[in-house]
Amino acid sequence: MKFTPEKPAIYGETLDSLTASLTAAGQPAFRAKQILAWLYKKRVRTWDEMTNLPKDFRTWMAEHFELEPTGFVLDRQSGDETDKILLELGDKSLIETVIIRAPMLGVGVDKSRKTICISTQVGCAMGCKFCASGLAGLKRNLSAGEIVHQLIQVCRQEDAHTPRARAELASFDNIVVMGMGEPLHNYDAIIRALTIVNAEWGLGFGARRITLSTSGLVPKILQLAEEPLGIRLAISLHGATDEVREQIMPINKTYPLADLLPAVKAFSEKQGRMVTLEFILIEGINDAIEQAEKLRDIAYDLHAHVNLIPYNTVEGLPWKRPSNNRCERFADVLRAAGISVTLRREKGHDINAACGQLRLKTEKARETEAGCTA
Ligand code: SAH
Ligand code: SF4
Repeated sequence: MKFTPEKPAIYGETLDSLTASLTAAGQPAFRAKQILAWLYKKRVRTWDEMTNLPKDFRTWMAEHFELEPTGFVLDRQSGDETDKILLELGDKSLIETVIIRAPMLGVGVDKSRKTICISTQVGCAMGCKFCASGLAGLKRNLSAGEIVHQLIQVCRQEDAHTPRARAELASFDNIVVMGMGEPLHNYDAIIRALTIVNAEWGLGFGARRITLSTSGLVPKILQLAEEPLGIRLAISLHGATDEVREQIMPINKTYPLADLLPAVKAFSEKQGRMVTLEFILIEGINDAIEQAEKLRDIAYDLHAHVNLIPYNTVEGLPWKRPSNNRCERFADVLRAAGISVTLRREKGHDINAACGQLRLKTEKARETEAGCTA
């Protein structure tokens, strides 16, 4: 389903696009910078707070741009480590944005880090068999403004934890594009959003601290390799042979390893960056030693980091994580060859499993409520 909002979200505008819209409407070009400063430096919530803009211009802006494309629904904390924020969009769709206060994803295991995980679609079309986000298919793409606004909402939530000072996005270590959705299936919006997140006139967050994860859309990986933005890339591999991978990831039929791996290499070489291979360990599916050996060879050839993630159970799906011993033995095969590898050991509260589940639960509850009142 395509959602066409009445007005474009102001958070989806770049300095160039906003300047062009304003000058076309007969406004001075410098107003664009003023507006962006109110949004990103002062983080105001209403047009009326933009006090250096003439009142009739503020009214014009309110008529032409949506200021708050997402609304806060609930914030669920699991221990001290994760904070799941549920947001509602203009068409009542729900998305999740997550704050993780823990070591994660090969970005450093020695100290606690604060990472934000953002969504790019409502649902997902890729249909990976193990994933909660794709269970009900794709509902729609998020707009660039909806993607950026998730980070504004995170800063607002974080304010509650920082009583004296206002929380800045810069206080976070990393942003990972690993929430609901396949980011490269919504290519233009995610690139535009990350451009805004990175820009000095926007959120000013370093591109090297942003990691995008993809299930492997080969032509889009090659396109991303040409982008000047300079973000990091993670690949959801989850199978080291076509036979195993296509059992759990239908996209492998369109883009098998023979196409995917050279594209990853091209990205790594063009961008001069080490890529991360994510490998969920699922009992009896991809946890055999032969898979570890194949993964080792792939990682060696790509000079990639490997992130092993014991599977997190999803309600209604049969898959399980292997025992700790089995996971360790799998990791040892890679370690013995000198591959850079991380294995997450902690139980529960996994962000990827969590992503999508809070939304599904809330939607189910809503359906039940609707059922009761009908
Ligand atoms: N669509 C993109 C990004 C979102 S998914 C992608 O697939 O890469 C982010 C990561 O979470 C992916 O590596 C995905 O395979 C993983 N994931 C999904 N469900 C999971 C689960 N139940 N347990 C552990 N990881 C999971
Ligand atoms: Fe989509 Fe990623 Fe889940 Fe696959 S793992 S269904 S690509 S969100």
